Amino acid sequence: MARRAAAAERLPRPRLPVFAVLGLGEAEAAWIEEARAAQMRIAAAALPFLLVAQLLAGAVAAGAALAAGRLDAVLVPAGGAVAAGIAVWLFLLERSWRGLKLSARLSLAVVAAACMGLAQAFLLRACLALPPAPIAGAAACAAAAALIVGATALLPIRIASLAVAATGALVAAPMAGIAATVETLFLLLFAGLLWHLARHDLTTAFQRMKADRESGRARRLVREHENHGTGWFWETDRTGRITYLSEKVLKELGAPGEPAIGRPLTEIFEMDSGAPETERSLSFHLSSRTSFSDYSVRSVDGKKDLWWSISGRPMVDKFGQFRGFIGGGSDLSAKRRAEAEITRLALFDSLTGLANRQRMRFALDQALAQPQGSYRPTALFLLDLDRFKAVNDTLGHQTGDELLKQVAQRLIRTIGDAGMVGRLGGDEFEIVLPGENDRDALARLAKAVIASLSQPYAIGGTSISIGCSIGIAVAPDDGDESQILVRNADLALYAAKGDGRGVHRFYREEMLVGAKSRKMLEDDLRKALADGQLHLAYQPVVSTIGAEVVGFEALIRWTHPARGPVSPVDFIPVAEECGMIEAIGEWVLRTACAEAVKWPDSIRVAVNVSAIQFVNPAFPRLVVSALAASGLPPHRLELEITESVFLDEGASSDETFGRLKAIGIRLALDDFGTGYSSLGYLRKAPFDKIKIDQSFVRGAAAPGSRNAAIIRAIVTLAETLGMETTAEGVEVQDEIALIRELGCSHIQGYVYGRPMKAEDAERLVGDGGGKAQASGYRVSRAPRTTMFRSARLELHGRRRHVRIRNISSSGAMIDGLDGIASEAGAEVMIELIEEQMFRASLRWVKDGKAGLQFAEPFDLSRLKMGPEPRALRYG
Ligand code: C2E
Ligand code: MG
Ligand code: MG
Repeated sequence: MARRAAAAERLPRPRLPVFAVLGLGEAEAAWIEEARAAQMRIAAAALPFLLVAQLLAGAVAAGAALAAGRLDAVLVPAGGAVAAGIAVWLFLLERSWRGLKLSARLSLAVVAAACMGLAQAFLLRACLALPPAPIAGAAACAAAAALIVGATALLPIRIASLAVAATGALVAAPMAGIAATVETLFLLLFAGLLWHLARHDLTTAFQRMKADRESGRARRLVREHENHGTGWFWETDRTGRITYLSEKVLKELGAPGEPAIGRPLTEIFEMDSGAPETERSLSFHLSSRTSFSDYSVRSVDGKKDLWWSISGRPMVDKFGQFRGFIGGGSDLSAKRRAEAEITRLALFDSLTGLANRQRMRFALDQALAQPQGSYRPTALFLLDLDRFKAVNDTLGHQTGDELLKQVAQRLIRTIGDAGMVGRLGGDEFEIVLPGENDRDALARLAKAVIASLSQPYAIGGTSISIGCSIGIAVAPDDGDESQILVRNADLALYAAKGDGRGVHRFYREEMLVGAKSRKMLEDDLRKALADGQLHLAYQPVVSTIGAEVVGFEALIRWTHPARGPVSPVDFIPVAEECGMIEAIGEWVLRTACAEAVKWPDSIRVAVNVSAIQFVNPAFPRLVVSALAASGLPPHRLELEITESVFLDEGASSDETFGRLKAIGIRLALDDFGTGYSSLGYLRKAPFDKIKIDQSFVRGAAAPGSRNAAIIRAIVTLAETLGMETTAEGVEVQDEIALIRELGCSHIQGYVYGRPMKAEDAERLVGDGGGKAQASGYRVSRAPRTTMFRSARLELHGRRRHVRIRNISSSGAMIDGLDGIASEAGAEVMIELIEEQMFRASLRWVKDGKAGLQFAEPFDLSRLKMGPEPRALRYG
């Protein structure tokens, strides 16, 4: 109501001047014109009756006049009246006056009506003047009646009616005395009545126009909403049968032959039982006559993928009677389809079509959910592609994507129905294998996966080879919750990657211990740098010829406040992983340069540089800065880089080598022979020195060792390329002569001194004269490597877990044999390399420890020290 009043307010109230009310002159507004036209149409429709009345009156008058012999007295007014009547009619008829304005036609009609009134009044007077006779009386009555009919027929056009009445009255009645006064009075009364009716006409027309406008707008809006919006309307009768439904929903429901109109609403729509917000049913609301809103419904017998949201409320008439339901709806189908697509996208990897992380998590949860009764084991494989990043970087992302698709196909082919394959993102894949815990079968499957993925891929005419590492965790042994199982498989994958990639590893408890201690180490290391727990030790590098100290290698030392010294072998990889190596490396470089500047001019300092530091484009700038800050001449600084920098070889490494050489510093290749097995890089990398790894040096003097041959080959290679050689890790005096004989230019090892404090180093090259003194054993013995690795041992056909404490090529010391009495001489099998058993015999057993002698010499270089045993030393 309030809204309608507001809309009406906006329309200017009609001005009703006399002319407008009387219907004369130009219409001020279209609605007035329309109202006039409507009045003229009504009057025009009545005019034939008037004409008949006039003809009748004329005929009776003519009869009476003929009888009185005065025909001429009536003929003119009767004929005039009929002619004027026809004229009025014609002016009222729209069709005959196309060119004439409505206001002009109306004015003409009013004039004609006045003439008609005049003619009829004269006819009346003529009839009254006839000699009294019954027929003359009838003629007067007829003339008067025609006058009344005329005024009545033209009543819709108030002014025309008044003109007829006024002219008729004025002419027909005696013009003097009391009669004239009475007549004028009645005429004024009639005029007043007509004025009132005319005003009423206009007000009604104005209101109708207003109402029309509003309802017209409402209709347009509804139609617009129904045809072009998502909304629609419905209505039911008291019994819940549909009485109205928007056209488009009728079409969508499309059950031919069964029009929805007339059928119960609940037969057409059914509720979406899955929608959480609809706790009451549609029929409940219809029968309880309560409102409902936003209920998800779909068609009962139409297409099932059409969804709507509907709302409704009961209608009550002004007497409080329930009339049915009225409501609206909106299309939910597109939204539902979008939701379904989102769900699909949320569960599948768009590139490979494999299940994604969420879905795999769901699948794992389901596989782990314990069914009633016995427990169903589940195995989880986590896969990581080896060298995938290199493919992506060198051959582009498109090739990388294609490779991932092919990997996905191979995985599906290899796994078949045994499990579910998913991609977690990047080059990480996962396989869930429900019902499987046979470790041998799992190992076979893992090997099959690795073999399949390691076959070359043909992409865009290029053959690409990658590898794959797999970590395996098996429920319930390795955890019965998905989160734990995934974490453990991840630890196993980490170990697989640490063990040289291209292998699979089963989760073992030590891995978790290792990971925890790694985390602890990381936290402590952050503090160590800030709290000054780090310092550098300097190990002399001695020339083979004169046994002179030519320089020192700076080696980082960490004294942990609680644990004491921690080896760089343990914390440098952690620093590399957690991103602290840059800060530590910078500190080492600046400290070493500042220290070396105190030594004599001929003494160099060697600083170890991690591959991560080296590939940073800002590294040469750091070197310049450290040299400038310390004042150390560039030729006295030697940077030691391991072969691992060539693994991530990018365009930047050539440039970095160039920029470093341009500074004037020296470059040494550290731990040569242990890592990357391509010699190609030696052609272009401008090294000044090759440092032969300890593993070739130690034991080189032992009988039967082939190391001497290897060292000789390396020396020849270095000499050809114009490089010096340093033999690392020389511990016994016997080896010095051998190394010299083999042609190495320098020696670094305990035999000439362990890494020492800065003051000691300064003293050695200052007061000490720079001569190195050999010390230590004279005779080489089979070198032992300390370790902490868990392994399986088979004794009398029974397998048990033991730990290897140290190992040499001929034997090992193990512990974990508690409860076993002296079994010296017993034959055992020991797992020296994962999944590979070696024959050995027990030499002695005491307090759970035992000495093993291998049946055949074991090549120690086959032992790859993964990150796990190393990290375990800290803890
Ligand atoms: P590296 O650069 O090959 O250093 C030689 C390692 O061999 C040193 O171990 C040294 O103490 C040890 N060594 C020297 N002579 C002998 C010997 O006769 N017998 C035996 N058994 N060992 C000998 P350290 O100090 O534990 O360092 C181990 C590794 O840690 C280094 O190997 C180097 O790769 C890394 N490292 C040490 N300091 C730093 C550093 O400041 N930055 C970086 N990035 N790495 C460092
Ligand atoms: Mg080094
Ligand atoms: Mg080295």
